[in-house]
Order: sequence, then structure tokens, then C-alpha cells
Amino acid sequence: PEILVKVSSVKKPHYRRILLKLSGEALENRAKGLHIDPEIVGKIARRVQVVVNQGIQVAMVVGGGNIFRGVSGEARGIDRNTGDYMGMLATIMNGLALQNMLEKTGIATRVQTAIEMRQVAEPFILRRAVRHLEKGRVVIFAGGTGNPYFSTDTAAALRASEIKADVLLKATKVDGIYTADPFKDPEAKRY
Ligand code: UDP
Repeated sequence: PEILVKVSSVKKPHYRRILLKLSGEALENRAKGLHIDPEIVGKIARRVQVVVNQGIQVAMVVGGGNIFRGVSGEARGIDRNTGDYMGMLATIMNGLALQNMLEKTGIATRVQTAIEMRQVAEPFILRRAVRHLEKGRVVIFAGGTGNPYFSTDTAAALRASEIKADVLLKATKVDGIYTADPFKDPEAKRY
């Protein structure tokens, strides 16, 4: 596997516990027509592995935009509530893909969902999540906040606060927070 950071070259880590937010699009490969590209997910998993091996506790929140977004569904006639639940379920599929690839690197991982799905993942239980983190397991929070009309960014902020993460890191296509989507609006200004 590729090694991005030589562990010996890393000084004492700045953070003890991080929450990494990945947008669903980070997992997709449009060129190959794949909503979830196992190769890309594998690469992400190996990067996370490097971080975990430094003793940093890693929690993750994953989006679902590569599969379904409530707002886009609404534009095609699916009620927003229903579409948002479909979007939340999409994040769980992404979470399972990430878990699978992380486990292939040897990192113990738990998925916790905001919408109960006991056969495939644990329900979100804060104290349990913290316990997993303390044991060095990666915890993937899937299902967003469990509520329609929110986004997985909100879920990331919420879970980061709940687990008392030192930092919330967002891996996304834009380099900051804008007044509008900079890909769609040329007038968008970066805060
Ligand atoms: N979603 C929701 N409530 C949440 C989180 C997500 O209703 O707390 C739905 C919403 O429809 C959203 C979709 O799930 O569009 C996928 O999440 P998001 O758009 O945040 O994914 P990302 O853009 O990060 O891939």
C-alpha cells in the first residue's frame, strides 16, 4: 500500500481526536461511472490508516451526494422528506464501503447510524462511540443527523462537538466557505 507519511518523520501529533468529514463525491469516479469506486475508497482508507497508526483517534462522517440528495430528488418530483431519508440511507451505503476498506487495512472500524439498522450497523450511542475511539477503532457516523432538512456537514459539526473532537476536518472539492456554490455561481465569494 502507498505510504503518504513516514511515521518516523511525524512529530508528536497536534491532535488527539479528529473528526473527518468526507463528502459522498469523494468516493465516486465519474469517468468510470461508479458511484462508489472501491479503488478510491481503498486509497482513502490507507490514508486514514496512517493517521490511526500515529495514535490519533479518528471519527468520520460521510455524505451521500454521490448517490442521492433530497434536494435533487425534489426537483424530479420526490417529496423532500422522502428524498432526504433516501439521502441519509445513501450515506449508510458509503459508510459501509468505507468500513470494509478500512478493515482490509487492518483497522478496526464501527459504523454507527442515526437511523437504526441493527443488522448492518450499531445505532448511534455517544458513550459507546467514545469508547470505540479510545480503543483505537475508527468510528464512522452514518445516516447524517437522522433528520430531514439537514446536511451531513451539520451532522459532522454535531458529532464533532458531541465526541469533543479537537478539530473537524472537511475533505471536499472547494477550498473554503463561500456565499454560494463556486462551481455554479461565478459571483460566489469566499468568506
Ligand atoms: N440528509 C438529511 N439529513 C441529514 C444529513 C443528510 O436529510 O442530517 C440527506 C439530504 O437529502 C442530503 C443527503 O442526505 O442531500 C446526502 O447528504 P449530503 O448532501 O450532506 O452529502 P454530501 O454533499 O456530503 O455528499
